[in-house]
Amino acid sequence: MFNVISNEILAENLHKMVVAAPRIARARKPGQFVMVRLAEGEERIPLTISDADPAAGTITLFIQAIGSSTRKIVATEAGTQQRLTTT
Ligand SMILES: Cc1cc2nc3c(=O)[nH]c(=O)nc-3n(C[C@H](O)[C@H](O)[C@H](O)COP(=O)(O)OP(=O)(O)OC[C@H]3O[C@@H](n4cnc5c(N)ncnc54)[C@H](O)[C@@H]3O)c2cc1C
Repeated sequence: MFNVISNEILAENLHKMVVAAPRIARARKPGQFVMVRLAEGEERIPLTISDADPAAGTITLFIQAIGSSTRKIVATEAGTQQRLTTT
């Protein structure tokens, strides 16, 4: 379970999300992606780790909302109890 730190709308259906994921932020390599699902039982989708800040313990995802899962994920508000799960 990973908290969403920020969720910025860059354009229609294009969001930049910063997620607290300290271990992934430290270990990730360029080109790697995370498998994300909004909640137990939801579809798992791959999203590229676009950037990481090991000091802050965060990763950055750019998400184009094109279907059911991506629309639900970009609707996740920062600073709430809602969380993303990587699998
Ligand atoms: C390795 C990997 C890394 C990825 N990284 C990212 C990422 O960083 N950010 C990101 O936003 N997405 C990324 N994707 C794509 C993302 O995983 C899919 O957009 C997501 O799985 C779609 O799920 P959905 O349920 O929202 O849409 P679905 O319901 O599965 O698809 C909705 C509809 O959109 C169509 N569609 C699919 N792709 C496109 C497209 N590019 N343009 C127009 N129509 C399309 C499908 O054919 C389908 O009809 C990545 C995919 C892979 C394999």
